[in-house]
Amino acid sequence: MSETRQTFAGLSHWEIVFWYGLIAVSTATFFWGVALLVRKYRRGRAGVELGSLGPRLLRTGRIVLAHTWIRRRDPAAGVAHLLIFYGFTVLFIGTAILAFQDDLARPLFGFDFWHGAFYLGYSLVLDVFGFGLAIGLGVMAAKRLRHPARLDYRRPDREEDRERYVIGDWVFLGSLFFLATTGFLLEAFRIAWTNPSFETWSPIGWTVGQAFRGLGLEGGAASTAHFVTWWTHGVVALAFVASIPFTKAVHMLAGPANVAVRNDRAGKALVPLPEDATPEQVGYGRITDLSWQHLVSLDACTKCGKCHVACPANASGYPLSPRDLVLDLRELAEGSIGIRSTLGVPPLAEPGADLVGARIRPETLWSCTQCMACVEICPVGIEHVPIINQLRRRLVEEGELDTMLQSTLEAVYETGNSFGEPKRKRPRWTRELDFEVKDARREPSELLWFVGDYASFDVRNQRATQALARILNSAGVDFGILFDAEKTAGCDVRRAGEEGLWSALAEENVRTISGCDFERIFSSDPHSFHTLKNEYPQHGGIWEVLHHSQLLLELLEDGRLVPSKHLGYRVTYHDPCTLGRYNGVYEPPRMVLEAIGCELVELPRNRDNSFCCGAGGGRIWMKELARAGSRRPSEQRIDEAVELGELDYFVVACPKDVTMYEDAIKTSGHQGELELRELSELVLEALDPGAEVGILAESHSHDGKEQE
Ligand code: SF4
Ligand code: SF4
Repeated sequence: MSETRQTFAGLSHWEIVFWYGLIAVSTATFFWGVALLVRKYRRGRAGVELGSLGPRLLRTGRIVLAHTWIRRRDPAAGVAHLLIFYGFTVLFIGTAILAFQDDLARPLFGFDFWHGAFYLGYSLVLDVFGFGLAIGLGVMAAKRLRHPARLDYRRPDREEDRERYVIGDWVFLGSLFFLATTGFLLEAFRIAWTNPSFETWSPIGWTVGQAFRGLGLEGGAASTAHFVTWWTHGVVALAFVASIPFTKAVHMLAGPANVAVRNDRAGKALVPLPEDATPEQVGYGRITDLSWQHLVSLDACTKCGKCHVACPANASGYPLSPRDLVLDLRELAEGSIGIRSTLGVPPLAEPGADLVGARIRPETLWSCTQCMACVEICPVGIEHVPIINQLRRRLVEEGELDTMLQSTLEAVYETGNSFGEPKRKRPRWTRELDFEVKDARREPSELLWFVGDYASFDVRNQRATQALARILNSAGVDFGILFDAEKTAGCDVRRAGEEGLWSALAEENVRTISGCDFERIFSSDPHSFHTLKNEYPQHGGIWEVLHHSQLLLELLEDGRLVPSKHLGYRVTYHDPCTLGRYNGVYEPPRMVLEAIGCELVELPRNRDNSFCCGAGGGRIWMKELARAGSRRPSEQRIDEAVELGELDYFVVACPKDVTMYEDAIKTSGHQGELELRELSELVLEALDPGAEVGILAESHSHDGKEQE
């Protein structure tokens, strides 16, 4: 006897006809659901250009097949999902091969390949992958039963029963588990019934089947059990396939689709407004304002909650969870243009409503620091940052701003700086230096230093700025600044949603810089560095831009800077979001610290997993939103540093970090336990241990008040 089996063993002609009828209904329902999804996406605005398809698909294939993003920072979940993904895929392909053999190859061409060695190999592969599927599902279920914070759907900002999400997750997991186990039972009952010796190639089914026979379940009883299980398994499998576009399972389609169509740089270089945009075209006000790509991304969300726990706003009790924002938008989309509205199911949120209103609150959007932690960790590549930015743009357009933010933006508009200071005060920090700083507008210079607002005006930051100037002077670096012609670079203006003001600032800075003769630009401010490097090209400003940590490293490596002292300090270092996650600059500051003889002790969350100080996205200019009793992001960061044990310094490489952490050291209750140093201050000490950086007699804090 050739090794094979009958696909429809024990089924009558009419039962087989009925089965094909069910397949037709299931397939039609699936494609109808897919058509409704496509219709929903087509209601969105035009997205960004996708570019060439080949490389995009290759990259998507690599990310999806290797689970590159799913494995990030949770390898156990990554492996479990790999088992589920490959288990489901192989079982699906196995079913498709069978259908091809029974419905096409054999009836049309008389080609019968499902026997002998092919059948035995097929049986073994499906058994192994089916077992993997069951194990993966078991691991996922066990993780859920531990109630991790990331799967907690309660909302700190409102009373709301979201039990339906929990039920939906369990139904999805449970139905896959049911399919995996009934698949094995089905096989075991068949083996207990027919008992062919070659079925040892289905090791799980064979073992369970022999156990059934040992218990006396064979012959007619096993045949009946097989019949019942066959139908149960089959009907649930077809129902599952039909349900994919309508349930949590939609992420199986939308997840890979989103990885394929997302704009990888969307969070890093925000999309400009269309030319001559009408007020209705500014930002996202209604669900149909979302680009089709962003509508796809809402359906891709698996509710894994990784962004929820990575978010510094959420961790500090601000009324924002990136996961909840995505789910709110998804419900609004479903209620107005999605399947739910087509089916007439009462929407979970009002259809057609303004996005910001009852469901999404302005405070939610103003809570975001645009730190990119959510985008970086999302396993399906959702772009929370540009979505939030688009929602903010509409709020700004409608004048619904945080009042403190509004006055800062007005100050930027009127004075060209966020401190509201007269522009002549911008270069005042140079007065304390014992050498002249070149005016880059009048003389050529090798390097143009874009100083930035905080490094220019803030009294504490001026010390670090002066330290950097002295270092460069001692290395004989030919550098110049723009003096009073420099304006706020605008990174946080743009992140706050004031696109028009950012454009005006960018245009003016590009004009000023273009009139100078230089080779490269550098900045000690990662926010200025970022927007000059990645966003000014949208206004024609294309230059080589460096962060000062990169420049310092270059000078140390070239031997133009030679430390005279091995500092021997035990320090930790905070990665600024706009330097690290936005631009991948992780090593230069660390290498500089090593070169000057510091022992670096890493914070538990470092590099791409760094935790935002809470200043970005314009939040440094807004009122505090943390829930009473919560620790602000900067305070949590200081707590982490103190946990590392005796440290000489908490090192930063960003002026806003200087401001945030000097403050947090005091408010966190750790004053006296930890001291802050900007990277340049340590480098200057290593070059010239006796150097003292003067503090200006009259300067200004970040809120613009006169200081002693
Ligand atoms: S960008 Fe940062 S603050 Fe904003 S939602 Fe994402 S993780 Fe939260
Ligand atoms: S948005 Fe991404 S990271 Fe957040 S819950 Fe959804 S899938 Fe997970």
